[in-house]
Amino acid sequence: ATAPRPITSALDPRFAPTLYAHVGQPQSWTLDYYRLNGGYEAARRAFAMGPDAVIDEVKKSGLRGRGGAGFPTGLKWSFMPLNDGRQHYIICNADESEPGSFKDRYLLSEDPHQLIEGMLIAGFAMRATVGYVYIRGEYVLGAERVARAIEEARAAGLIGRDAMGSGFDFELYVHRGAGAYICGEETALMNSLEGLRANPRLKPPFPAAAGLYGMPTTINNVESFCSATQILRYGADWYAGMGTDKSKGTKLFQVSGPVARPGVYELPLGATFRELIYDFAGGPLEEIKAIIPGGSSTPMLRVSDRVLDTPMDYESVAALGSMLGTGGVIVIPKSYCIVNATWNLVRFYAHESCGKCTPCREGISSWMTRMYERLVRGRGRPGDVELILDMSDNIAGKSFCALADACLGPVLSSIKEFREEYDHLIEHGRPMYPSRPRWAER
Ligand code: NAD
Repeated sequence: ATAPRPITSALDPRFAPTLYAHVGQPQSWTLDYYRLNGGYEAARRAFAMGPDAVIDEVKKSGLRGRGGAGFPTGLKWSFMPLNDGRQHYIICNADESEPGSFKDRYLLSEDPHQLIEGMLIAGFAMRATVGYVYIRGEYVLGAERVARAIEEARAAGLIGRDAMGSGFDFELYVHRGAGAYICGEETALMNSLEGLRANPRLKPPFPAAAGLYGMPTTINNVESFCSATQILRYGADWYAGMGTDKSKGTKLFQVSGPVARPGVYELPLGATFRELIYDFAGGPLEEIKAIIPGGSSTPMLRVSDRVLDTPMDYESVAALGSMLGTGGVIVIPKSYCIVNATWNLVRFYAHESCGKCTPCREGISSWMTRMYERLVRGRGRPGDVELILDMSDNIAGKSFCALADACLGPVLSSIKEFREEYDHLIEHGRPMYPSRPRWAER
């Protein structure tokens, strides 16, 4: 296939989305549409290359996991044992639940074959003959479209026994979650798939060593599998020609909050926050004071020219003291009380805690929630911020999975960046800014 020209800058006039190229097109979710646009050519190429070469190609592309952690995808694939005679599984984590993240949603509902092709390629590379797509319960349309696309692909011989005449057998199933955030944590997800309560498991062992039903398993995000389709279609060199030195390719960024055009934008890694918020999302509707760069768990940043001009890649955002995460940028207006905004997130994490470990169950679900409630009700006492910091110190790094630490992201960063709003609330019993964002009234 002719590769789209590599994108070197978000503002490059040659910019053309790849992952989202067909999102929004009529019938884009059907096999007929997908095939008319070069569908399943990437899988054909993968079968011709052989499994090891496919893993090398993904490694060469520099693709990093798009679920938020940015772990190198090719390296993860290479952890799967070879010829061990056991059943291997691959799982697509489509439990997208991080507040501020909504990119996978449209890949599922608008381009399900791109995902199925990516999973077929990954299954072939890792000798995994069975795959599951674990979709959050609320994504009803996405689950229906993926299930229908799997049926279409099976009927056309693209998956199933001797997929595409390759000699490789590949079965794929949809499993719907029931709306619990913790099911996006990969080990809790596997427990849920097995029919157990979705509590996280201890890591290590990582899934490649002991995953679903104790067998070698690899779990990737929806966008990661779709990126693999593009890499196998157009080649690793094409993919690595986009992005920055260590963060290659394009990424689906999301913008929510008071901007003219909230939504999903596919840009090369390394595009700046300013380009995303001002040029693509049309700019803020009112003065903004903070951004959360990559989904609610990533520490918020006070807006400045330095922050806005920071390239959105894994390294540059980490250098600011935050994380690129899912690329879900939440814009917070100046007119909204930051303590209230943080309480909103604390309540989310408290509600979603699975209750397995004490720091999260007692620390987040009970203490932290009650402390924030006291503050926003105007009943905060001098020393409360110090108490929150002390409690956070007892939680950070001491919980069973990343959920409790995720809650500390907005807590600690809001105190660090906007301490004056906490102090004002405690001193006067009322917030410096309204507890309901002005733009939400529109
Ligand atoms: P993690 O860094 O522990 O792991 C990331 C991936 O790399 C996992 O698949 C893990 O198995 C693998 N891995 C890491 N170290 C490994 C090793 N030494 N050997 C083998 N495999 C290894 O992160 P995590 O807890 O899976 O995810 C945290 C991230 O998830 C956060 O950064 C957050 O941005 C993101 N997140 C996303 C959503 C969403 O809706 N997409 C929701 C919540 C959190």
